[in-house]
Amino acid sequence: MTDTIFHKIIRREIPADVVYEDEHLIAFRDIAPQAPVHVLFVPKTSIATLNDLRADQAEIVGRLAHAAAEYAKREGFAEDGYRVVINCNGHGGQTVYQLHLHLLAGAPLGRFGA
Ligand code: 5GP
Repeated sequence: MTDTIFHKIIRREIPADVVYEDEHLIAFRDIAPQAPVHVLFVPKTSIATLNDLRADQAEIVGRLAHAAAEYAKREGFAEDGYRVVINCNGHGGQTVYQLHLHLLAGAPLGRFGA
């Protein structure tokens, strides 16, 4: 099992701007934000990529998405809208190999593509 920078954040070995945490996941601001709001939702269970998510772990992604939506409502930008993204492997642009969901918001976001 690979130890990543996100595992160190989960264990509070390195600092992060944590905005939410529960027994299942932690959420913190991205160090290099791509939008006015850019928060990462990371499960505490070690799962390297979306490809590695087993059927019996599918609720983990649901928890990430639900926590992101609750955060958007709490922070008051849910109605304006937001984007959630999970990058997978090289072509998906994944750089940290612990599953995570990006929440991007705070301005109209451009269409995405290659
Ligand atoms: P990925 O490219 O794997 O989908 O996303 C990884 C994200 O983690 C990137 O947006 C990157 O800016 C962010 N990131 C990388 N290292 C750190 C760190 O040490 N702290 C925080 N808060 N974010 C990080």
